[in-house]
Amino acid sequence: ACVAEPPRIRRLDESVVNRIAAGEVIQRPVLAVKELVENSLDAGSTSISVVVKDGGLKLIQVSDNGHGIRSEDLPILCERHTTSKLSAYEDLQSIKSMGFRGEALASMTYVGHVTVTTITEGQLHGYRVSYRDGVMEHEPKPCAAVRGTQIMVENLFYNMIARRKTLQNANDDYAKIVDLISRFAIHNSSVSFSCRKHGVNRADVHTVATLSKLDAIKTIYGISVARDLMEITVSDDNPSRSIFEMNGFISNANYTAKKTTMVLFINDRLVECTSLKRAVEVVYSSTLPKASRPFIYMSIKLPSEHVDVNIHPTKREVSLLNQESLIETIQNAVESKLMTCNTTRTFQTQT
Ligand code: ADP
Ligand code: MG
Repeated sequence: ACVAEPPRIRRLDESVVNRIAAGEVIQRPVLAVKELVENSLDAGSTSISVVVKDGGLKLIQVSDNGHGIRSEDLPILCERHTTSKLSAYEDLQSIKSMGFRGEALASMTYVGHVTVTTITEGQLHGYRVSYRDGVMEHEPKPCAAVRGTQIMVENLFYNMIARRKTLQNANDDYAKIVDLISRFAIHNSSVSFSCRKHGVNRADVHTVATLSKLDAIKTIYGISVARDLMEITVSDDNPSRSIFEMNGFISNANYTAKKTTMVLFINDRLVECTSLKRAVEVVYSSTLPKASRPFIYMSIKLPSEHVDVNIHPTKREVSLLNQESLIETIQNAVESKLMTCNTTRTFQTQT
Protein backbone atom coordinates (compact mmCIF):
# COMPACT_ATOMS: atom_id res chain seq x y z
CA ALA A 1 0.00 0.00 0.00
CA CYS A 2 1.17 3.48 -0.61
CA VAL A 3 1.41 5.76 2.39
CA ALA A 4 0.84 9.49 1.94
CA GLU A 5 3.89 11.65 2.23
CA PRO A 6 4.07 13.52 5.53
CA PRO A 7 3.17 17.21 5.28
CA ARG A 8 6.02 19.69 5.67
CA ILE A 9 6.43 21.43 9.00
CA ARG A 10 6.86 25.17 8.76
CA ARG A 11 7.45 27.97 11.18
CA LEU A 12 4.37 30.18 11.69
CA ASP A 13 4.67 33.88 10.99
CA GLU A 14 5.26 35.85 14.14
CA SER A 15 2.08 37.84 13.54
CA VAL A 16 0.04 34.61 13.41
CA VAL A 17 1.67 33.32 16.60
CA ASN A 18 0.98 36.59 18.38
CA ARG A 19 -2.64 36.75 17.33
CA ILE A 20 -3.27 33.18 18.45
CA ALA A 21 -1.63 33.86 21.81
CA ALA A 22 -3.58 37.11 22.19
CA GLY A 23 -6.87 35.28 21.72
CA GLU A 24 -5.99 33.20 24.75
CA VAL A 25 -5.03 36.09 27.04
CA ILE A 26 -8.00 38.24 26.02
CA GLN A 27 -10.77 35.67 25.79
CA ARG A 28 -13.59 38.14 26.38
CA PRO A 29 -13.98 41.89 26.82
CA VAL A 30 -14.15 41.46 30.60
CA LEU A 31 -10.63 39.99 30.60
CA ALA A 32 -9.31 43.06 28.78
CA VAL A 33 -10.93 45.21 31.46
CA LYS A 34 -9.38 43.05 34.17
CA GLU A 35 -5.90 43.45 32.71
CA LEU A 36 -6.32 47.21 32.33
CA VAL A 37 -7.65 47.72 35.86
CA GLU A 38 -4.86 45.57 37.30
CA ASN A 39 -2.34 47.73 35.47
CA SER A 40 -3.97 50.81 36.98
CA LEU A 41 -3.79 49.28 40.46
CA ASP A 42 -0.16 48.27 39.88
CA ALA A 43 0.51 51.91 38.94
CA GLY A 44 -0.63 53.00 42.41
CA SER A 45 -3.86 54.66 41.28
CA THR A 46 -6.42 55.88 43.79
CA SER A 47 -9.08 56.56 41.20
CA ILE A 48 -10.02 54.30 38.29
CA SER A 49 -12.87 54.81 35.88
CA VAL A 50 -14.13 52.48 33.20
CA VAL A 51 -16.29 53.34 30.20
CA VAL A 52 -17.72 50.60 27.99
CA LYS A 53 -19.56 50.65 24.69
CA ASP A 54 -21.32 47.67 23.17
CA GLY A 55 -20.29 45.24 25.90
CA GLY A 56 -16.67 46.21 25.31
CA LEU A 57 -16.55 45.26 21.63
CA LYS A 58 -16.76 48.85 20.39
CA LEU A 59 -14.88 50.53 23.22
CA ILE A 60 -13.21 49.86 26.55
CA GLN A 61 -11.65 52.89 28.19
CA VAL A 62 -9.85 52.76 31.51
CA SER A 63 -8.55 56.00 33.04
CA ASP A 64 -6.46 56.19 36.18
CA ASN A 65 -4.43 58.64 38.23
CA GLY A 66 -1.40 56.39 38.68
CA HIS A 67 2.28 57.03 38.02
CA GLY A 68 1.96 57.10 34.26
CA ILE A 69 4.35 55.73 31.63
CA ARG A 70 7.69 57.33 30.66
CA SER A 71 7.59 58.73 27.15
CA GLU A 72 10.84 56.92 26.29
CA ASP A 73 9.14 53.59 27.08
CA LEU A 74 6.22 54.19 24.72
CA PRO A 75 7.94 52.63 21.65
CA ILE A 76 8.15 49.19 23.34
CA LEU A 77 5.08 49.48 25.59
CA CYS A 78 2.93 47.16 23.49
CA GLU A 79 5.55 44.66 22.36
CA ARG A 80 5.12 41.16 23.72
CA HIS A 81 7.06 40.42 26.91
CA THR A 82 7.92 43.99 27.82
CA THR A 83 7.26 44.81 31.46
CA SER A 84 8.46 47.06 34.27
CA LYS A 85 7.43 44.51 36.91
CA LEU A 86 9.65 41.45 36.53
CA SER A 87 13.25 41.00 35.54
CA ALA A 88 14.47 37.61 36.75
CA TYR A 89 12.42 34.40 36.82
CA GLU A 90 13.17 34.02 40.54
CA ASP A 91 11.37 37.30 41.24
CA LEU A 92 8.07 35.59 40.39
CA GLN A 93 8.22 34.00 43.81
CA SER A 94 7.94 37.27 45.65
CA ILE A 95 6.06 39.33 43.08
CA LYS A 96 3.63 41.84 44.59
CA SER A 97 2.29 43.36 41.39
CA MET A 98 -0.59 41.72 39.60
CA GLY A 99 1.11 41.87 36.24
CA PHE A 100 4.40 40.23 35.33
CA ARG A 101 4.02 38.67 31.89
CA GLY A 102 4.19 41.83 29.82
CA GLU A 103 1.59 40.37 27.52
CA ALA A 104 -1.70 42.10 28.20
CA LEU A 105 -1.26 45.35 26.30
CA ALA A 106 0.52 43.57 23.47
CA SER A 107 -2.33 41.08 23.19
CA MET A 108 -4.87 43.88 22.98
CA THR A 109 -3.03 45.41 20.04
CA TYR A 110 -3.24 42.11 18.14
CA VAL A 111 -7.01 41.82 18.56
CA GLY A 112 -8.07 45.47 18.75
CA HIS A 113 -6.98 49.08 18.30
CA VAL A 114 -5.19 50.49 21.32
CA THR A 115 -4.62 54.17 22.11
CA VAL A 116 -2.61 55.24 25.14
CA THR A 117 -2.60 58.71 26.69
CA THR A 118 -0.23 59.18 29.61
CA ILE A 119 1.61 61.74 31.66
CA THR A 120 4.20 61.34 34.40
CA GLU A 121 4.66 63.52 37.47
CA GLY A 122 6.24 66.90 36.77
CA GLN A 123 5.66 66.89 32.99
CA LEU A 124 4.00 69.84 31.32
CA HIS A 125 2.14 67.75 28.81
CA GLY A 126 1.31 64.15 28.16
CA TYR A 127 1.64 61.93 25.10
CA ARG A 128 -0.85 60.09 23.01
CA VAL A 129 -0.02 57.18 20.72
CA SER A 130 -1.90 54.36 18.97
CA TYR A 131 -0.73 50.79 18.45
CA ARG A 132 -1.42 47.91 16.07
CA ASP A 133 0.09 44.44 16.21
CA GLY A 134 2.55 45.39 18.93
CA VAL A 135 3.99 48.51 17.29
CA MET A 136 3.34 52.25 17.38
CA GLU A 137 1.37 53.56 14.44
CA HIS A 138 3.11 56.94 14.66
CA GLU A 139 5.43 58.91 16.95
CA PRO A 140 3.83 59.83 20.30
CA LYS A 141 2.00 63.16 19.99
CA PRO A 142 2.19 65.73 22.78
CA CYS A 143 -1.26 66.38 24.25
CA ALA A 144 -2.97 67.85 27.27
CA ALA A 145 -3.24 65.45 30.19
CA VAL A 146 -3.88 65.81 33.90
CA ARG A 147 -2.50 62.83 35.69
CA GLY A 148 -2.00 59.14 35.07
CA THR A 149 -2.92 56.99 32.13
CA GLN A 150 -5.90 56.41 29.90
CA ILE A 151 -6.01 53.32 27.74
CA MET A 152 -8.62 52.92 25.06
CA VAL A 153 -9.28 49.64 23.27
CA GLU A 154 -11.52 49.93 20.24
CA ASN A 155 -13.05 47.32 17.95
CA LEU A 156 -12.00 44.33 20.03
CA PHE A 157 -11.81 41.11 17.99
CA TYR A 158 -12.27 43.03 14.72
CA ASN A 159 -10.00 40.44 13.12
CA MET A 160 -11.51 37.37 14.82
CA ILE A 161 -14.86 36.82 13.17
CA ALA A 162 -15.82 33.68 15.06
CA ARG A 163 -15.04 35.32 18.41
CA ARG A 164 -17.13 38.37 17.58
CA LYS A 165 -20.05 36.16 16.61
CA THR A 166 -20.02 34.29 19.90
CA LEU A 167 -20.00 37.59 21.80
CA GLN A 168 -23.12 39.14 20.34
CA ASN A 169 -24.92 39.67 23.63
CA ALA A 170 -23.54 43.04 24.74
CA ASN A 171 -25.66 43.13 27.92
CA ASP A 172 -24.15 39.89 29.06
CA ASP A 173 -20.61 41.18 28.73
CA TYR A 174 -21.41 44.52 30.28
CA ALA A 175 -22.90 42.72 33.30
CA LYS A 176 -19.67 40.74 33.62
CA ILE A 177 -17.66 43.96 33.56
CA VAL A 178 -19.85 45.58 36.22
CA ASP A 179 -19.47 42.47 38.36
CA LEU A 180 -15.69 42.56 37.94
CA ILE A 181 -15.40 46.23 38.92
CA SER A 182 -17.66 45.59 41.92
CA ARG A 183 -15.30 42.89 43.15
CA PHE A 184 -12.22 45.06 42.73
CA ALA A 185 -14.01 47.91 44.49
CA ILE A 186 -14.75 45.81 47.59
CA HIS A 187 -11.22 44.59 48.01
CA ASN A 188 -9.54 47.88 47.10
CA SER A 189 -11.77 50.10 49.19
CA SER A 190 -9.13 52.85 49.34
CA VAL A 191 -9.45 53.30 45.57
CA SER A 192 -12.47 54.98 44.02
CA PHE A 193 -13.99 53.11 41.11
CA SER A 194 -16.60 53.95 38.57
CA CYS A 195 -18.00 51.97 35.68
CA ARG A 196 -20.52 53.21 33.16
CA LYS A 197 -21.77 52.70 29.66
CA HIS A 198 -20.52 55.13 27.03
CA GLY A 199 -22.94 58.01 26.56
CA VAL A 200 -24.68 57.39 29.87
CA ASN A 201 -24.02 59.75 32.77
CA ARG A 202 -25.10 57.52 35.60
CA ALA A 203 -22.46 55.02 36.69
CA ASP A 204 -23.45 51.42 37.42
CA VAL A 205 -20.67 51.09 39.97
CA HIS A 206 -19.53 54.12 41.86
CA THR A 207 -17.48 53.97 45.03
CA VAL A 208 -15.62 56.62 46.97
CA ALA A 209 -12.12 55.99 48.29
CA THR A 210 -11.56 55.47 52.04
CA LEU A 211 -14.85 53.68 52.53
CA SER A 212 -14.47 50.62 54.72
CA LYS A 213 -14.91 47.27 53.00
CA LEU A 214 -18.34 46.93 54.54
CA ASP A 215 -19.27 50.41 53.29
CA ALA A 216 -18.05 49.42 49.84
CA ILE A 217 -20.23 46.31 49.94
CA LYS A 218 -23.16 48.49 51.06
CA THR A 219 -22.59 50.93 48.19
CA ILE A 220 -22.35 48.18 45.61
CA TYR A 221 -24.67 45.40 46.71
CA GLY A 222 -27.06 47.49 48.78
CA ILE A 223 -27.86 47.90 52.42
CA SER A 224 -30.04 44.78 52.46
CA VAL A 225 -26.96 42.65 51.73
CA ALA A 226 -24.57 44.54 54.00
CA ARG A 227 -27.03 44.32 56.91
CA ASP A 228 -26.92 40.52 56.83
CA LEU A 229 -23.15 40.12 56.87
CA MET A 230 -20.84 39.09 59.68
CA GLU A 231 -17.17 39.81 59.86
CA ILE A 232 -14.93 36.77 59.94
CA THR A 233 -11.23 36.41 60.64
CA VAL A 234 -8.99 33.38 60.85
CA SER A 235 -5.34 33.21 61.48
CA ASP A 236 -3.57 29.95 61.58
CA ASP A 237 -0.02 30.29 62.74
CA ASN A 238 0.67 26.72 63.63
CA PRO A 239 4.21 26.51 62.25
CA SER A 240 3.82 22.90 61.14
CA ARG A 241 1.17 23.99 58.67
CA SER A 242 1.03 26.78 56.17
CA ILE A 243 0.82 30.18 57.78
CA PHE A 244 -2.17 32.10 56.61
CA GLU A 245 -4.63 34.79 57.44
CA MET A 246 -8.14 35.23 56.21
CA ASN A 247 -10.55 38.03 56.79
CA GLY A 248 -13.80 38.97 55.21
CA PHE A 249 -17.55 39.05 55.48
CA ILE A 250 -20.03 36.19 55.25
CA SER A 251 -23.81 36.22 55.16
CA ASN A 252 -25.84 35.25 58.22
CA ALA A 253 -29.08 33.29 58.61
CA ASN A 254 -31.27 36.19 57.50
CA TYR A 255 -29.67 36.48 54.08
CA THR A 256 -31.46 34.91 51.13
CA ALA A 257 -30.22 34.41 47.59
CA LYS A 258 -30.57 31.79 44.89
CA LYS A 259 -26.95 32.03 43.80
CA THR A 260 -23.72 32.10 45.75
CA THR A 261 -21.70 35.29 45.51
CA MET A 262 -18.09 34.51 46.24
CA VAL A 263 -15.59 37.35 46.05
CA LEU A 264 -12.18 35.85 46.67
CA PHE A 265 -8.78 37.51 46.78
CA ILE A 266 -5.63 35.56 47.50
CA ASN A 267 -2.64 37.79 48.17
CA ASP A 268 -4.64 40.65 46.66
CA ARG A 269 -5.28 38.78 43.42
CA LEU A 270 -8.84 38.27 42.32
CA VAL A 271 -9.08 34.53 41.77
CA GLU A 272 -11.55 31.71 41.59
CA CYS A 273 -11.34 28.60 43.69
CA THR A 274 -14.14 26.16 43.01
CA SER A 275 -13.18 23.77 45.78
CA LEU A 276 -13.24 26.50 48.43
CA LYS A 277 -16.57 27.78 47.13
CA ARG A 278 -18.11 24.29 47.27
CA ALA A 279 -16.68 23.69 50.72
CA VAL A 280 -18.28 26.87 52.06
CA GLU A 281 -21.62 26.10 50.38
CA VAL A 282 -21.63 22.71 52.09
CA VAL A 283 -21.21 24.36 55.48
CA TYR A 284 -24.11 26.72 54.79
CA SER A 285 -26.52 24.05 53.65
CA SER A 286 -25.71 21.81 56.59
CA THR A 287 -25.70 24.52 59.27
CA LEU A 288 -28.54 26.86 58.43
CA PRO A 289 -32.13 25.69 58.37
CA LYS A 290 -33.14 27.95 55.50
CA ALA A 291 -31.01 26.66 52.63
CA SER A 292 -29.95 29.99 51.16
CA ARG A 293 -26.85 30.38 49.05
CA PRO A 294 -24.28 32.56 50.82
CA PHE A 295 -22.61 35.86 50.11
CA ILE A 296 -18.89 35.57 50.79
CA TYR A 297 -16.08 38.05 50.58
CA MET A 298 -12.74 36.64 51.61
CA SER A 299 -9.24 37.98 51.50
CA ILE A 300 -6.63 35.32 52.12
CA LYS A 301 -2.99 36.18 52.74
CA LEU A 302 -0.32 33.51 52.37
CA PRO A 303 3.46 33.63 52.19
CA SER A 304 4.09 34.31 48.52
CA GLU A 305 6.26 31.20 48.18
CA HIS A 306 3.13 29.14 48.95
CA VAL A 307 1.22 30.49 45.97
CA ASP A 308 1.97 29.70 42.34
CA VAL A 309 0.54 32.56 40.31
CA ASN A 310 1.82 31.38 36.95
CA ILE A 311 -0.82 28.75 36.15
CA HIS A 312 -2.52 30.39 33.22
CA PRO A 313 -2.13 33.60 31.19
CA THR A 314 -5.43 34.95 32.52
CA LYS A 315 -4.18 34.35 36.12
CA ARG A 316 -7.73 33.39 37.04
CA GLU A 317 -6.49 30.57 39.21
CA VAL A 318 -3.57 30.18 41.52
CA SER A 319 -2.30 26.98 43.02
CA LEU A 320 -1.77 26.81 46.76
CA LEU A 321 0.40 24.78 49.04
CA ASN A 322 -1.61 22.73 51.56
CA GLN A 323 -4.89 23.61 49.90
CA GLU A 324 -6.91 20.89 51.70
CA SER A 325 -5.92 21.91 55.20
CA LEU A 326 -6.46 25.56 54.36
CA ILE A 327 -9.97 24.85 53.09
CA GLU A 328 -10.72 22.76 56.17
CA THR A 329 -9.60 25.55 58.50
CA ILE A 330 -11.81 28.03 56.68
CA GLN A 331 -14.74 25.61 56.74
CA ASN A 332 -14.41 25.24 60.50
CA ALA A 333 -14.26 28.98 61.00
CA VAL A 334 -17.34 29.55 58.85
CA GLU A 335 -19.20 26.80 60.66
CA SER A 336 -18.53 28.16 64.14
CA LYS A 337 -19.44 31.66 62.98
CA LEU A 338 -22.75 30.37 61.61
CA MET A 339 -23.43 28.47 64.84
CA THR A 340 -23.20 31.68 66.85
CA CYS A 341 -25.58 33.46 64.52
CA ASN A 342 -27.96 30.52 64.60
CA THR A 343 -28.39 30.81 68.35
CA THR A 344 -28.58 34.59 68.41
CA ARG A 345 -30.71 34.74 65.32
CA THR A 346 -32.47 38.03 65.02
CA PHE A 347 -35.76 38.63 63.31
CA GLN A 348 -36.34 41.97 61.74
CA THR A 349 -39.55 43.55 62.89
CA GLN A 350 -41.63 45.13 60.19
CA THR A 351 -42.10 48.82 60.40
P1 ADP B 1 2.50 43.63 32.82
O1 ADP B 1 1.39 44.27 33.59
O2 ADP B 1 2.51 42.14 32.96
O3 ADP B 1 3.83 44.26 33.07
P2 ADP B 1 1.18 44.79 30.51
O4 ADP B 1 1.22 44.47 29.08
O5 ADP B 1 -0.13 44.73 31.20
O6 ADP B 1 2.22 43.85 31.24
O7 ADP B 1 1.79 46.25 30.71
C1 ADP B 1 3.11 46.52 30.26
C2 ADP B 1 3.76 47.65 31.05
O8 ADP B 1 3.09 48.87 30.76
C3 ADP B 1 3.65 47.51 32.56
O9 ADP B 1 4.71 46.72 33.08
C4 ADP B 1 3.69 48.96 33.03
O10 ADP B 1 5.03 49.40 33.18
C5 ADP B 1 3.07 49.73 31.87
N1 ADP B 1 1.67 50.10 32.12
C6 ADP B 1 0.57 49.50 31.62
N2 ADP B 1 -0.56 50.09 32.03
C7 ADP B 1 -0.19 51.10 32.85
C8 ADP B 1 -0.88 52.11 33.61
N3 ADP B 1 -2.22 52.18 33.62
N4 ADP B 1 -0.13 53.00 34.31
C9 ADP B 1 1.21 52.95 34.30
N5 ADP B 1 1.93 52.02 33.61
C10 ADP B 1 1.25 51.12 32.89
MG1 MG C 1 -0.61 44.02 33.17
